[in-house]
Amino acid sequence: SNALLKVTNLKKSFSIPNGMFGKKKSLKAVHDVSFIIPEGKTFSLVGESGCGKSTTGRLISRLIQPSEGEIWIDGEEISQKKEAHLKAIRKKVQMIFQDPYASLNPRMKVRDIVGEPLVIHTNLTKAERNKQVSEMLEVVGLSEYHADRYAHEFSGGQRQRIGIARALIMKPKLIIADEPVSALDVSIQSQILNLLKDLQREFHLTYLFISHDLSVVEHISDHIGVMYLGTIVETGPKEVIFSNPQHPYTKALLSSIPIPDPRLRRERIILQGDLPSPVNPPTGCRFHTRCPVATDICKVTEPPVKPGVTPDHFVACHLVDY
Ligand code: SF4
Ligand code: MG
Repeated sequence: SNALLKVTNLKKSFSIPNGMFGKKKSLKAVHDVSFIIPEGKTFSLVGESGCGKSTTGRLISRLIQPSEGEIWIDGEEISQKKEAHLKAIRKKVQMIFQDPYASLNPRMKVRDIVGEPLVIHTNLTKAERNKQVSEMLEVVGLSEYHADRYAHEFSGGQRQRIGIARALIMKPKLIIADEPVSALDVSIQSQILNLLKDLQREFHLTYLFISHDLSVVEHISDHIGVMYLGTIVETGPKEVIFSNPQHPYTKALLSSIPIPDPRLRRERIILQGDLPSPVNPPTGCRFHTRCPVATDICKVTEPPVKPGVTPDHFVACHLVDY
């Protein structure tokens, strides 16, 4: 099927203050990220906080502007477009955030929160907007009864449903969901993930899903990209990433997921040390300071992206060879 999103060699550096005298240094938050999401599919970016996955999401939605690289959405390249030319894209791409309460105005009624994009992007009358809001509330499992209440009157799961209704009201094609269930209890998490899956089928949505937690993305993903310090170190179909991971970092992330069945349990790999600073990333393979199987070449030479175990599986590691 067609690629709804294609990201090529995306890079983003932030200039940040460096001590006194107004000197600046460069923080490389995203360092050469490329991936494709076919229409109607879900691609998940997974990695520790600070690895650049949220920045990648914000670049694609053009909340911030890339330093380099291309972003193709629905056949249109938008990486360097000016705000005035981003109107069409702003309708096609919507975001869902971790803490919906922070992004929902507590003094606004649910009806106005969900209907606000219609005010910004359309000339619909109030009655027409209200009708669409009521329909959208039903779609996400709320009802007309909730429309005249305030966001703070709702539970975390209900607030995320309000956030989803607001994201869907413009009938977007691409949803970027940044840690959408991380603030929720496990039982509520699965309700929201199931809702997102149902909505994807019903509205033919394409998802970029961002999470620090591989177990959260397991059931929603078609493809997964594992990020470390601004780069994708391994990407492939969900089944390959879970059953046959090749990158030492992916193996370590997977080994920390609790698995009830003792026969399937993996040996726990504990990573030494903290995530290095993206201001001064390690030379060679950026993972070499924590990699349990690093060799001398890893310290000096950046590993190339190599083919993995299936045609759409890729690994950036010197040790991998197929
Ligand atoms: Fe570890 Fe070297 Fe592979 Fe990097 S390239 S993941 S340091 S083995
Ligand atoms: Mg984040």
